[in-house]
Amino acid sequence: MTPPFEMIIIGGGCAGLSLAMRLTSLPEKKRVLIVESRTEYRNDRTWCFWGTDSAQLRHLVSHRWQSVSLQTQDRKVKVDCRAAPYEMISAETFYAATLQKISQHPCIELATGTALTSEPWRDGDLWRIETTAGQSAGRILIDTRPSLPIQTGEAVLWQSFSGQEIECDEPVFDPTSATLMKFLPVEDARIPFVYVLPFSPKRALVEFTVFSPIPLSADELSQGLELGIAAEVGAAEYSVGRTEHGILPMGLTKPAPRAQPSSVRVGVSSGGARPSSGFAFQRIQRWAQACAEALLAGDAPVAHAPDSWSLAAMDKLFLRVLRARPEFSPNLYLSLFGVKTPHSLIRFMSDQATPADCASVVFSLPAWPFLGEIPNFISRRKYKIAGGPIA
Ligand SMILES: Cc1cc2nc3c(=O)[nH]c(=O)nc-3n(C[C@H](O)[C@H](O)[C@H](O)COP(=O)(O)OP(=O)(O)OC[C@H]3O[C@@H](n4cnc5c(N)ncnc54)[C@H](O)[C@@H]3O)c2cc1C
Repeated sequence: MTPPFEMIIIGGGCAGLSLAMRLTSLPEKKRVLIVESRTEYRNDRTWCFWGTDSAQLRHLVSHRWQSVSLQTQDRKVKVDCRAAPYEMISAETFYAATLQKISQHPCIELATGTALTSEPWRDGDLWRIETTAGQSAGRILIDTRPSLPIQTGEAVLWQSFSGQEIECDEPVFDPTSATLMKFLPVEDARIPFVYVLPFSPKRALVEFTVFSPIPLSADELSQGLELGIAAEVGAAEYSVGRTEHGILPMGLTKPAPRAQPSSVRVGVSSGGARPSSGFAFQRIQRWAQACAEALLAGDAPVAHAPDSWSLAAMDKLFLRVLRARPEFSPNLYLSLFGVKTPHSLIRFMSDQATPADCASVVFSLPAWPFLGEIPNFISRRKYKIAGGPIA
């Protein structure tokens, strides 16, 4: 068995690599092991966020949009977001940048094709793990694994999406503006919409997304995606490049796991995703920065910082309304984005709202769907959970 590591990071995805990249100034004698089950890194996703002053890794941005739009069948809202553009980092660029930095550090070891085979356990002052490559031990454990299999009741709503990057034979897209939500009729408690990131007049990522109490597989989303693309491209012919699929929790129903002095659990299933939107990339970057600073100072690792009471309460109430009255959601989103000061909304969505921003968001929304849910919110009445676990 190899001598113990200073730290073991389980999972070399967004959270694991973001932390490891910031640990490259660790003294060389402090060895770090990253255990990652995938054998190779592919361009498997795109990360979008608002380019606010505090957004991190903006030098990796490959595309930015100066405006975004939302629409229902009879209404459209277009938001000028030049002050904090909607920005995208491709997974390919992020992986290349982080892996290059990590590979230059002699004491950070990335073990790809190596999966954890049982839960880590404590042995004296060490954490031990069993992997497909054998046993290892470390003083500190950072666990970034998502909770699998996904259990339906573990989130208030699930955001399931499936997308294709397509290239058309004629110009059909406006590359200056991203479509965040083009709503389709709400059915069976499902809130479906199409998301379009146009990279050029002929090329775009088109995604079919559903917010619903039950997570949906790529197969279940395939018909919606096909129809969504057809509506975007009209008569143009197109070829399909990269595809992506994801299922993100919106509002975890279990409290985030407690950090221990030498171990934390982080990532999308452990507080990394913003409850009301599923956005996680910048939250993960802020965690990675804070955790690396703590570790470099010789302190204990930190988990995701909890949201402020007011933000958490607003998200919870918003999700309750989406879940209880899905038919109102398209208009709620359009009201939200129709706010007079879009920068307030962008700061709110980027976890940086001031009290004035929160007030502006609250006043942009119609009161009555929320008033109707407040008694349930206060009495913490449980949702009826439909469906079972999915693989
Ligand atoms: C397709 C897609 C698009 C997204 N787009 C956005 C976006 O635009 N904006 C945004 O803010 N968020 C977005 N997200 C949400 C979030 O930012 C990502 O899911 C992000 O990758 C989460 O980081 P993570 O480290 O928690 O999980 P991951 O990046 O999934 O990393 C977890 C790692 O753990 C590894 N692992 C799992 N089990 C084991 C095991 N037993 N042993 C060893 N390794 C293991 C996995 O292989 C993986 O590499 C998107 C998610 C997806 C899936």
